[in-house]
Amino acid sequence: MQPNIIQLLPDHLANQIAAGEVIQRPASTVKELLENAIDAGASQVHLIIADAGKALVQVIDNGKGMNPTDARMAFERHATSKIRTIDDLFTINTMGFRGEALASIAAVAEVEIKTKTADETLGTHLLIAHSKVTSQQPVATPTGTSIAMKNLFFNVPARRNFLKSNTTELRFIIDEFTRIALANPTIQLKLTNNNQLVYNIDAVNLKQRITQLLGNHYNNKLVTVNEQTDYLNITGYVGKPETAKKTRGDQYIFVNNRFIKSHYLNHAISYAYDEMLQKDSYPAYFINLQLNPEHIDINVHPTKQEIKFTDEKLVYAFVKSAVKHALAQFSISPALDFSLNATIQQMPAVTQPSTASTQNKVYNSPLYQTFTQSNQAHKIEHSGNLKSWQSFYNNNNENTPTTQAVENVTAPTLLQATTLQPEQVHQLNNSYIAIEQPDGFVLVQQQYAHQRVIYHRLTTTTAALATQQSLFPETLQLTPPDAILLTELLPHFNYLGYQIQPFGNNTFVLQGTPAAALVSQSQSEIEIILEHYKNQSSSYKLPPLQKLSLTLCWQQSIKLGIALSKKEMLALLTDWYNTPNNHTSPFGKKILANLTADYLKKLFS
Ligand code: ADP
Ligand code: MG
Repeated sequence: MQPNIIQLLPDHLANQIAAGEVIQRPASTVKELLENAIDAGASQVHLIIADAGKALVQVIDNGKGMNPTDARMAFERHATSKIRTIDDLFTINTMGFRGEALASIAAVAEVEIKTKTADETLGTHLLIAHSKVTSQQPVATPTGTSIAMKNLFFNVPARRNFLKSNTTELRFIIDEFTRIALANPTIQLKLTNNNQLVYNIDAVNLKQRITQLLGNHYNNKLVTVNEQTDYLNITGYVGKPETAKKTRGDQYIFVNNRFIKSHYLNHAISYAYDEMLQKDSYPAYFINLQLNPEHIDINVHPTKQEIKFTDEKLVYAFVKSAVKHALAQFSISPALDFSLNATIQQMPAVTQPSTASTQNKVYNSPLYQTFTQSNQAHKIEHSGNLKSWQSFYNNNNENTPTTQAVENVTAPTLLQATTLQPEQVHQLNNSYIAIEQPDGFVLVQQQYAHQRVIYHRLTTTTAALATQQSLFPETLQLTPPDAILLTELLPHFNYLGYQIQPFGNNTFVLQGTPAAALVSQSQSEIEIILEHYKNQSSSYKLPPLQKLSLTLCWQQSIKLGIALSKKEMLALLTDWYNTPNNHTSPFGKKILANLTADYLKKLFS
């Protein structure tokens, strides 16, 4: 018979393993110790760091302290004063209590604690190593608690080696400190690093604390958010649009005064800003949601700082409208509307709908005529590309698709052989293609022309477009609202050449991308596509496939500033000639301009 080989892990090893979940780096200790100090009712808290927390993390508070028995008990696993019954798990007004923090710290570091309650004259002094109390003595100490964690991971070298540089670890610590400081503006906080005072911040209000911690540039740049409802209170500040940054910097969401991470709510807030922000810029915000903990699912891992609301959609809608309301109240949105050039807004072309007569005016204008009259194409006809040019004019004049154009749908977008002569085309500014004409030049805006070609191909295809399989399928992790949108659009995405599979939990796998698309199609591109799709003016009451085609033609088109070879220019032009409605882009932008010899002459007279 085989001998018994299964053994129980010794306590200290089990503790070390469990500690790995809670204490990953010095900053994790900072968070746990600061939160304990605040839970103990402290009004003053001092955080002391040495060697970016690798040598020392100490928190001194003036909270209620512990008696000798509690002080010892506090370091046992599952030792907590905050939960008595299972019901407490659902009613305590705080999150993530499992009585594990101190036990975990004691398993992976040396700990020294001094603590005293208000009704004791002498306090308790404990030394702990390897989860065992090695010394206990009475000590003269003020009411409150001082916990020092020394030599983190001294007994787990593998983990110690995983720590980052001091700069990085200190950054993490300051992040935690900042979050706690913003969540508790009425607590006086101090941070010392290597004997140098980094922060010394008074008990103030949130607005002052934001400027204390993050800089005076937020002075007069914060808008108050304050909505009270039966279900939820939303308070705090959002930055005026001009404080938005290129990176997600100062974005803080708190729930019942604890920092949380929520892509979902980030999204709600950004959405509330709507058009006020430039593309790819992120607003600053400091928002606290106060709601009954019964509406929060606390079973989500406490150290991950992610939580779930019982009614996610409701919270999303509340937050979005609270921020929107705040921004509107401070008349930020109307101010932006009027910042458009007033003279442009009053032009008839903008204020009046286009009619048959205005269109006729355009068609009969000399500018349009010089380009569309077939005799102007003399030289090109000569070059043997008569058929394409002719159909181009026909398309323009009739403004209706021709069968020939529809057949062209399957033609590759670029790099197609053509009979137009290379000497006739020149790229200007990597943005415009100048086509030599017997009478001057025609300029074609490359991006808009390409958009028209792609849009036509996408909207007239009668079968799913070809897919290029990815060698390494990519996982897309989306925010909940984006995941919902992508799920809705999935059949259309797949029809237009993508191969995307839902994978549950807001995750998708990108297995293939449109074979004809020239631009990369990574996770960030999919996010950009979804962003553009959402931002299409809602006045476009188009079916989703058409709307997605608009977005994709925008995303897949060659942009301005891209150098094209002669061959590419010719291919693009050929495709473009053969596409109906090719004098305007799918977004209504002008694609071509005619510089006649007459016009050029006048320029120099
Ligand atoms: P939890 O905070 O989840 O209860 P911890 O391991 O962080 O678990 O702390 C265990 C217990 O130790 C707390 O419930 C609290 O009673 C006590 N405690 C910890 N830190 C302090 C402190 N700074 N002041 C007073 N009591 C504390
Ligand atoms: Mg705790």
